[in-house]
Amino acid sequence: MKLIPIKYHNLKYPVYIKPRIIEVAAHFDINKLPSYLENNNFSLHTEYSAKKRNFNNHVIQKYKSLVTAQPNPGKPKLWVSKNWAREFAYFLIELLDGKIPKIIEIHPPNSRSTNLNEFIEYFKVFENIFLNKDIRCEILIENRNGFRISGIDDFIELFNIIDKEKISLKLIVDFPQLLNYEKAKKDPKVLNETMEKIKSVKHNINAIHLWGQNGRNSHSGDMLDYFDQNIELKNIFFSKLGEVFNDLESEMYFIPEINAGANGKTREQCLENIVHDLEQTGFIFYTNNS
Ligand SMILES: [Zn+2]
Repeated sequence: MKLIPIKYHNLKYPVYIKPRIIEVAAHFDINKLPSYLENNNFSLHTEYSAKKRNFNNHVIQKYKSLVTAQPNPGKPKLWVSKNWAREFAYFLIELLDGKIPKIIEIHPPNSRSTNLNEFIEYFKVFENIFLNKDIRCEILIENRNGFRISGIDDFIELFNIIDKEKISLKLIVDFPQLLNYEKAKKDPKVLNETMEKIKSVKHNINAIHLWGQNGRNSHSGDMLDYFDQNIELKNIFFSKLGEVFNDLESEMYFIPEINAGANGKTREQCLENIVHDLEQTGFIFYTNNS
């Protein structure tokens, strides 16, 4: 399995890995994308509803369905109606201003009780607007702990529906979020079982997120920090990850969502450790122009 590195914020990869795709923020308080972006060299990271938004810039104000889908003022609610999906697409198209992203990262509906068939109906509205404007890119949905797509059973349910429809939605697996939701972080048996179960949906996975957790601080540190310095758990994780993906001829994107170092390591050292763990497991990073 080859990994296509994506540049995350200003986090530097080891020198031999030169990512050609950059992740850019496109949440609801963003009103302009960086001017240096070029067609197909960026991934649009859309609203993920982790914190309150101000909703006060001139762009978002035009999209009333997006602005009103929140307890006032609060965290945005995602995928609440067809109208929301339509305005979400037009909001992103306005931000894109004629540029074509390689990837659009979307996030699941907030509520666990959302009907997935309904979500897919809304998603189709969203996707069709991009297709009709001839904006061709990969659309990937990310799991979030506590949201409608949290665990393996949700992945299976989602792709049972998608397989019957002609839509091209694929998955980004955020492993730390997934393992937190599945309570697999501290228990070798549960960790093994969770990683085993993911095999049934592996053909729908186009990208992975890895990051550490340092005490209560998410997105800090490397995978050893994530597993609270437990080497056995970290080794189980990577060896199962290799088992899941290494027989595939394909490639997937890798996005290291590390916002801070941990336990005396810098962010860059944490990324270097994760890259090293992946390479030891048998993953191959696209380096420069390969
Ligand atoms: Zn995300």
